[in-house]
Amino acid sequence: LLLQHRVSLSSLWLQGDYVWMDLKTGREFDVPIGAVVKLCDSGQIQVVDDEGNEHWISPQNASHIKPMHPTSIHGVEDMIRLGDLNEAGILRNLLIRYREHLIYTYTGSILVAVNPYQLLPIYSPEQIRLYTNKKIGEMPPHIFAIADNCYFNMQRNNKDQCCIISGESGAGKTESTKLILQFLAAISGQHSWIEQQVLEANPILEAFGNAKTIRNDNSSRFGKYIDIHFNKRGAIEGAKIEQYLLEKSRVCRQAQDERNYHVFYCMLRGMTVEQKKKLGLGKATDYNYLAMGNCTTCDGRDDSKEYANIRSAMKVLMFTDTENWEISKLLAAILHMGNLQYEARTYDNLDACEVVQSASLITAASLLEVDPQDVMNCLTSRTIITRGETVSTPLSMEQALDVRDAFVKGIYGRLFVWIVEKINAAIYRPPSQELKSVRRSIGLLDIFGFENFTVNSFEQLCINFANENLQQFFVRHVFKLEQEEYNLENINWQHIEFTDNQDALDMIAIKPMNIISLIDEESKFPKGTDSTMLHKLNSQHKLNTNYIPPKNNYETQFGINHFAGIVYYETKGFLEKNRDTLHGDIIQLVHSSKNKFIKQIFQADVAMGAETRKRSPTLSSQFKRSLELLMRTLSVCQPFFVRCIKPNEYKKPMLFDRELCVRQLRYSGMMETIRIRRAGYPIRYTFVEFVDRYRVLMPGVKPAYKQGDLRGTCQRIAEAVLGKDDDWQIGKTKIFLKDHHDMLLEIERDKA
Ligand code: ATP
Ligand code: MG
Repeated sequence: LLLQHRVSLSSLWLQGDYVWMDLKTGREFDVPIGAVVKLCDSGQIQVVDDEGNEHWISPQNASHIKPMHPTSIHGVEDMIRLGDLNEAGILRNLLIRYREHLIYTYTGSILVAVNPYQLLPIYSPEQIRLYTNKKIGEMPPHIFAIADNCYFNMQRNNKDQCCIISGESGAGKTESTKLILQFLAAISGQHSWIEQQVLEANPILEAFGNAKTIRNDNSSRFGKYIDIHFNKRGAIEGAKIEQYLLEKSRVCRQAQDERNYHVFYCMLRGMTVEQKKKLGLGKATDYNYLAMGNCTTCDGRDDSKEYANIRSAMKVLMFTDTENWEISKLLAAILHMGNLQYEARTYDNLDACEVVQSASLITAASLLEVDPQDVMNCLTSRTIITRGETVSTPLSMEQALDVRDAFVKGIYGRLFVWIVEKINAAIYRPPSQELKSVRRSIGLLDIFGFENFTVNSFEQLCINFANENLQQFFVRHVFKLEQEEYNLENINWQHIEFTDNQDALDMIAIKPMNIISLIDEESKFPKGTDSTMLHKLNSQHKLNTNYIPPKNNYETQFGINHFAGIVYYETKGFLEKNRDTLHGDIIQLVHSSKNKFIKQIFQADVAMGAETRKRSPTLSSQFKRSLELLMRTLSVCQPFFVRCIKPNEYKKPMLFDRELCVRQLRYSGMMETIRIRRAGYPIRYTFVEFVDRYRVLMPGVKPAYKQGDLRGTCQRIAEAVLGKDDDWQIGKTKIFLKDHHDMLLEIERDKA
């Protein structure tokens, strides 16, 4: 047998042949790598893989080598055309294109964008012109092609469009969103005031909602949906922004090498000495809330210049000078609050604490326009009403710090919501009744992708819940497109099956007693704790295959089997995060303030009263509601999908980490497209393509351009080579094949 291998190995491969080589490292994200045969020598062959490493393949390892389909050798613009339609094929295709700075590639209806981490000369006005009013596929893949198709489909079909941009942090979602906007603004071509306003909303959102993280120097810490409205002549006439789940904890806490929101650093760099004096401000390193990550600057960012940009953008969006100053006052108050100092005390054997009298306290109180003594009381004790009696109990140091941080997060979160509303007030024009029928829109969703960290918490559950929804939307859309293509070609497609993630979604948020509703119920239950919540989740779902209960009674995490893999959620802190309420004393403090602005942003809370506040919607129920609205909006649009891929963790150009990319491909749902495609007829050739490629298999067949009956010729070739009764079909313009047919045809063609 060995001898047989020896013979076959050196005779099977020729120098220059392309092959797939199994790496067999045993790691989770391991897939075969492409390689080219360099030497054939006495039964062995030497290959050079795509990363330049050389390997000798001995006859014993002959099975590690497989032939590469011709479509994989130099890469294709639409990966659905790959003969090797699998992870290895896709990965290699992206790699070889990336090396040539071709960062965009299609997979059917999805645009894959690999972050180049360098400015490529592909976004010029000339490029915009080249991509205007073209069909997908007419020009090389590009983000502009997607924008162009959104725009012209909207016009042609009189139907709203949406573009769902996903990917992990640093993959390029926000940059892609901006490029689409830039394209739309250019081709709708009015350079109107409203158009400028829509464009200028972005710098403001980024100042207040983006921050430097270890993954991305300009990481969006919120999700957004921008709906751009066009009039019947196709000019931008307004827009509306929806925001999701701002990461409020960042205002109080940053990990090593990370920063707080950009706006704080910009303000400290960009304000005049006089302004800063009025707010009692110094430099970034003076503030606990800014210096925690030991990183107050960001390479390649000029915070003082950015400040000027933010200010001018705010002018464009009609923020008045007074409003601007009020915002600055709140931001300054937050920084001073972060510098408060506490001293531990004991009262009646109870742990308690005091706020030390300091300049920070006085300044914070004066900016918030409240009595410093009230601030102290509020931050160190809690009023509880029992049986009609009001009792004040002291807080421990730890509790007191939590109350302070909760207050600060409360201010920032409401400020962010107010800012988005303010922007919308400038750019959103509700449609008048008669306009409703002619107004069309393009929505751009820039939202956090699937997350699976070492420790996952409530936020990850919300994010992954959103991604389950988007995934389902995506899979159904792809399936529908497949069906449409089969229908169009008169092909019988009955036997195509696909699995979507409905079961997981049901368990998370749809069916009675779903996970979100159980968490919510426990959040409203006064005696509910994270562990009683976990207990309820277990007893309800332990038999569900999508649920992974804790291994024992001590474990505090549960797992969910998401479409992109299993994620374990640490339940500690779940209820607190979900309740997201401020204590009555804090609301009372705000109520007592003479600062109209802070009262305005807390308006709803103050109006509610203590009892209603307890029953106010939790974070997850609010998020679920806005997600439902989003899905409803998306469902009436024609969708486009952009999957952004981060090629390495170092923010560096020309560095492609295969393992990192495979992981993202799996999370992206792209494999689902392929699975659906595979379940039907993955290989399609137009009659012309088929005849020209395979006419060598039937002596005497003329080239396609000389054929009268192309369809008939295709049929004759297929019947002769593949057999009459095999499972291939011939449509109106294309022939539909299974993988093995394609393989057979290629082998025969090589022989011919
Ligand atoms: P997050 O989820 O953290 O917000 P993101 O997916 O929005 O991440 P971006 O902020 O869009 O990521 O991109 C990160 C960085 O990558 C950008 O600041 C930019 O430096 C670079 N980048 C992304 N796309 C491109 C591009 N098309 N051309 C050049 N550089 C890019
Ligand atoms: Mg972003």
